[in-house]
Amino acid sequence: MGVGNTASTVRIVALGGLGEIGLNLMVMECAGRAIVVDCGVMFPEERLLGNGVYIPELSWLEESRLAFDAVVLTHAHEDHIGALPHLLRRFPTVPVYGTALTLAFARRRVEDAGLDVAADFRPMMPGRGFEAGPFKLEPIRVTHSTPESVALAIRTPVGIIVHSGDFKIDQAPVDGERFDTARFAALGEEGVRLLLSDSTNVEREGRSGSESSLKPVLRSLVARTRKRFFLSAFSSHLHRIRQVTEVSREVGRRVVPLGRRMAESVRLGMETGQLSFPPGTFLEPEEAEFLEPHRVTYLASGSQGEPLSALARLAADSHPRLHVEPGDTVVLSSRFIPGNERMINTLVNHLYKLGAEVIYDAVAPVHVSGHASRDELAEMIRLTRPQLFVPIHGEYRHLSRHLQLAMEAGIPQRNCFLLEDGDSLVLTASDAYRSRPAAAGRVLFEGGELEDAALIGERKTLAQGGTVVAVIAVSMSTGTIIAGPDLVSRGLVSGDGTSAHMRAAREELKARLAAIEPPLRAGDMRVRDEVVRTLRRYFIDAVGKRPFVIPHVMEVP
Ligand SMILES: [Zn+2]
Ligand SMILES: [Zn+2]
Repeated sequence: MGVGNTASTVRIVALGGLGEIGLNLMVMECAGRAIVVDCGVMFPEERLLGNGVYIPELSWLEESRLAFDAVVLTHAHEDHIGALPHLLRRFPTVPVYGTALTLAFARRRVEDAGLDVAADFRPMMPGRGFEAGPFKLEPIRVTHSTPESVALAIRTPVGIIVHSGDFKIDQAPVDGERFDTARFAALGEEGVRLLLSDSTNVEREGRSGSESSLKPVLRSLVARTRKRFFLSAFSSHLHRIRQVTEVSREVGRRVVPLGRRMAESVRLGMETGQLSFPPGTFLEPEEAEFLEPHRVTYLASGSQGEPLSALARLAADSHPRLHVEPGDTVVLSSRFIPGNERMINTLVNHLYKLGAEVIYDAVAPVHVSGHASRDELAEMIRLTRPQLFVPIHGEYRHLSRHLQLAMEAGIPQRNCFLLEDGDSLVLTASDAYRSRPAAAGRVLFEGGELEDAALIGERKTLAQGGTVVAVIAVSMSTGTIIAGPDLVSRGLVSGDGTSAHMRAAREELKARLAAIEPPLRAGDMRVRDEVVRTLRRYFIDAVGKRPFVIPHVMEVP
């Protein structure tokens, strides 16, 4: 198949978000110029990997030698904006487009990263088109769990591409800003070449339900709470913060954000008009100390059981100024993200022990998803009537099921593409096909430094196999073993150090070391290798574990 004139060829490259929920980053390229849609992070599901976040592997952006005309952010969630500082470090002058609220959050990320660039932030608004290189972009209003979320209609030399962003079709949105059904239908009328659509909740039948359906539930929970009311939700969920603030005000409660992120969200919400309440509605924690308990609602981050969050501290009763007590209600207003259940369960148990009533999704309808269920996904396809379809924002199984749904909705199989991170799709005027892959991947970012795969591998080994340290003193002149081997282990066998296994391992190692010719022992590499090999083999055979072995060979003159 001929590529034809490159000026009328568009290439789409997914560098993240197709194979996981997170790390969203897509490149659209035409004749050497390109735009980036979203630039997000992902939080590691395994806590043993530390408190870092994953960012997409960005080196391809430089290697591609493309000229980037814009980064366009669809909304303010971390999985769409969190890696922006890393991208701006490489491309400090690229214009960054987003709605006012999205840019307010993005600006904070860039400031937090201590980035020494004057980023070129450019506000965009639904219905107002703008140009970026060879593309004409138009943000379209969608509903989602953070305000001012948009989809994008991207006019290219090969037709209109619709990128859904994260969306649901909320018929009664909290801020009154409705999903722009008419605009999507008009684009469908005009002819959409390709639809890229959010796959997160493709496993859920029916519709997602309206965010505003939570208000009566929150109202009744607040009304029956004798003392303090705690709501834990994602800090960017300004719709939910708005609703709990409204029902709190109805009964004379002030609202106190706990923790830096939550306070920052409330502040940005007020600055951008998303949280429009009279002065005095929100208080600092120290200002609320003098209020009676039934006059206060607290907003706490940490609904996923994050160890350092306000909620975790409350549950552990280690918060500096607040103690949960009988009569308090704690509402976990979010989904339990798979992988976090154990930590959340522990948290719930602790809160119960402190005497609080704890309400979560399994016992009362205190959460509604921000992502479209199957009927809404089908509606998006019906409205836009795309020629080509690519599912985005999902793990492989979500992408696969969404592809199936598109085919059921009438898009021929040959026009549906299941792309994964690193894949690229080329569109010409008459054709669409996969092209050479890009280097995609993820990098762990922690404490201001990028970490390599070897370090993550070490942590996994430590967690799964434990660790054993062997201490040996060898004479440098004669090669005689002067002391040891002594073994210390952690997380490997019970009764570490004194167990029969440790004694047997020590004897085994002693024999192995004795078998090495003394002159060879002086060069410590030989001894180290033998220690690692012997102890690994011993523990694999004896207990089925592959410990992380640390040989500590002291060379004595
Ligand atoms: Zn997302
Ligand atoms: Zn989102």
